[in-house]
Amino acid sequence: MKLTDLLCRERYSLSFEVFPPKTDAVFESVSRAALACARLQPSFVSVTYGAGGGRSRYTLELAERIHAETGVPTLAHLTCVSSTRETVEAQIAALKRAGIENVMALRGDLTPEMEAQDRSLWPYRHAIELVRELRESGADFCIGGACYPEVHPESASQKEDIRRLREKVDAGCDFLTTQMFFDNNLFYSFLYKIREAGITVPVLPGIMPITGAAQVERAVRLSGSFMPQRFRTLVDRFGTSPEAMRQAGIAYATDQIIDLFANGIRNVHIYTMNKPEVAGAIRQNVSAILGMPL
Ligand code: FAD
Repeated sequence: MKLTDLLCRERYSLSFEVFPPKTDAVFESVSRAALACARLQPSFVSVTYGAGGGRSRYTLELAERIHAETGVPTLAHLTCVSSTRETVEAQIAALKRAGIENVMALRGDLTPEMEAQDRSLWPYRHAIELVRELRESGADFCIGGACYPEVHPESASQKEDIRRLREKVDAGCDFLTTQMFFDNNLFYSFLYKIREAGITVPVLPGIMPITGAAQVERAVRLSGSFMPQRFRTLVDRFGTSPEAMRQAGIAYATDQIIDLFANGIRNVHIYTMNKPEVAGAIRQNVSAILGMPL
């Protein structure tokens, strides 16, 4: 099933992101956790692509397995980083063979080791180049792209970032998913600006439930997202108790999602971090809104 068919419906949708295993040794345990998330009946499951090797070879395998075992539509990520023209060609052929119709085209981030290598090893510089390649493959993929309500860290300005985003969408993105954010007002303001810039495709807000104090620093470092005082207070108060922090983090993410639905956003994406207990609790908290009891 193409995700555009699902995202353009009148109903609410809640989708999950999972990551694939890094090595053979953890293949079963990581896949089991991802499958447990998929069994919670999300609208679709996206499977990330580990730039820099490792996890990348398992993306397709896990996406196929999730679809086969749960019937949930899947979206396979693909990055410029760690891809050559040959590997992209092979990946497109494998996606076609596996019957995966949805692909998320991303740039990825170079690891310090890759930075030190010859840049010509990685011919794709920006996600837009992958979008074009996927479009030209003749496979009629439904293509997603990433976007940044708080501006991509490498962009000179939001105006420039949105100009590049418009180019990426015009090249063939069917929908966009945002980087995590913790203040919905930043998302509403971003959405207004991109609509003004003529970007009309569905935009899925990406919500990251923070359920451990240690996760906060990492999330801010990786995404550069703004942490509202309301959230910091919650971490200060409950951060030392894992159980209390988990409950508070689930409540905060649920609150963000309900506010998004209440303000007319129909499709929300959760970064599950392969935690079925967290994804399940949130899914349960909004089941009546989704019209899908668990
Ligand atoms: P791009 O669209 O290439 O944009 C990156 C920067 O370059 C922006 O500043 C943009 O304004 C600018 N830019 C864009 N096009 C051009 C151009 N033609 N010329 C000059 N500048 C340009 N990473 C992974 O490794 N694996 C994953 O599975 C993964 N999944 C993700 C899912 C989501 C929803 C999000 C939000 C991010 C994900 N990432 C993933 C992280 C992502 O790879 C990084 O955020 C990366 O830094 C940017 O990727 P992009 O696709 O947005 O890049």
